[in-house]
Amino acid sequence: MHYIGHILGITDLAKPLGLYKANIMDVTSRKPSVLIIGAGMTGILMVIKLRKAGIEDITVLEKKERIGGTWRENTYPGVACDVPAHMYTYSFELNPNWSHFFAHGDEIQGYFEGVADKYDVNRCIRFNEAVTDARYENNKWQVTSSQNRHYEADFVVCATGILHHPAFPNIKGLENFKGEMFHTAQWNHDQEIGPSTKVGVIGTGSTACQSIPELVDSGADVSVFQRTPQWVLPLKNFRNPDRLKKLMNRFPSLARLSRNFSVFFMEHFFTKAVTGHFVQKHLISWWCKLNLLLSIKDKALREKLRPNYQVGCKRIVVNTTYYKAIQKPNAHLITENIECITEDGVRTKDGVIHKLDVLVLSTGFHPMNYMRPMNLIGRADLHIDDAWSDQIKTYRSMMMPNYPNFFLMHGPNTPIGNFSVIAMSEVQCGYILKMIEAWQRSEYDEAEATPEAVQTFNAYIKDGLKGTAWVGGCQSWYLDKKGDPILWPYTWGQWVKEMREPEFSDMRLTKYQNSQSKEAA
Ligand code: NAP
Repeated sequence: MHYIGHILGITDLAKPLGLYKANIMDVTSRKPSVLIIGAGMTGILMVIKLRKAGIEDITVLEKKERIGGTWRENTYPGVACDVPAHMYTYSFELNPNWSHFFAHGDEIQGYFEGVADKYDVNRCIRFNEAVTDARYENNKWQVTSSQNRHYEADFVVCATGILHHPAFPNIKGLENFKGEMFHTAQWNHDQEIGPSTKVGVIGTGSTACQSIPELVDSGADVSVFQRTPQWVLPLKNFRNPDRLKKLMNRFPSLARLSRNFSVFFMEHFFTKAVTGHFVQKHLISWWCKLNLLLSIKDKALREKLRPNYQVGCKRIVVNTTYYKAIQKPNAHLITENIECITEDGVRTKDGVIHKLDVLVLSTGFHPMNYMRPMNLIGRADLHIDDAWSDQIKTYRSMMMPNYPNFFLMHGPNTPIGNFSVIAMSEVQCGYILKMIEAWQRSEYDEAEATPEAVQTFNAYIKDGLKGTAWVGGCQSWYLDKKGDPILWPYTWGQWVKEMREPEFSDMRLTKYQNSQSKEAA
């Protein structure tokens, strides 16, 4: 019954799970200071939710001059989100005016800027201040920024995002290239690209598949250097007709209806497919294989584009333009491995030199950095590099032993196969607010996960990963240095349910007043 109401837009999926409860404190409570690192989608959300809960002592440190995170950084041609636009919005700020089914990058950036303005978020942001050090000392977080300013806070929320440190390929001679070279996340818009330009693109992930069609359309001669082919799912990005937008403005529950359909589809089809549910797994696999068969006419090219691993092992590329673009006369798919970069192009292992004017590195990010290179130092001088020297581990993706009152947003095992990160942030914000409210009620002064809870959580994750697509025999940014995927292997619904209430028995709670350390377990 609830699902029917949910899809029809009458209810929101997370509502009965208590996620959107107004977190207004009804007791005379302590007032915490909260420092948020990063003013991207998650940082903005955290400010809004904290204020709604009556918490005003908030500082956001943002390394750049504008809000927006990923959408401020990634401006490459064709940049768009592969999660449906109505789903990729805050649940409390639906946008009836999305121009397309999948929103473009600049439109998403505009949306976040609009929300930040509406909720007056900017007044607590310190721009151009990267956090260099965060140290737990004297029962508080002592934070130092790149401007050498010092801040003190009861809580630190790390909202730095996952994919924000561009990865440059370790290819011999990269520094020798005399033409223009840039990473997709640092696109040089001053560089003219047109019919007389020879462009090389290294990489064939989601980013490359969005930008290559734009480069090909510009008339440039485009060489695509593919190391591993990708599975491509063809979900068309259609324009939302003006009439639909008008209707959604008039009847906002239509926007929620669209959102809820997308949530339902992603949850019950996409996410289940990659987490090993039999029917969905085979359906998505056949869909991608059929797409390859029907889209690529030339048999030899088709075989070059055919991955030899399970669909979903790497993040599925959602795209309908890449296969068309790669078949155009001015596009060349090069599958011979790269030997080195020369002054004027790329030399492949067969000895061929591919002369280029522009070299685009679409080589992804360092997802395992999380908050680093920041010096995050917990109790007993424990540096995060040492805490994670063996493996990156957390409790519920968010908390760690020796790091009291510290919350990592989108930590390891948060990402849920192709689901909206905004929905994940909302759930995590709800969890943090409940933790802070307990602090306000003086139920604890310091809370951190116990080592046992981290161990149990990670064993639980490892157990769930067994049947998933991510262990399906490929290399991907999902894998940590031990080869374990950093994803959530169960369903979205299960994650929401488990994140509903903090489990204090998994935490070491300390109260200063009587200097007692209370092991709640
Ligand atoms: P990616 O998926 O990590 O792809 C990197 C590409 O670079 C791969 O094809 C990789 O080849 C290649 N590569 C890396 N080093 C190389 C080397 N030394 N030599 C040759 N090739 C090399 O990165 P991405 O495309 O930027 O996407 C990252 C993630 O960002 C996506 O999975 C997605 O989560 C997100 N994203 C989302 C959207 C969206 O629509 N929402 C759009 C873009 C990106 P191998 O496969 O052989 O390693």
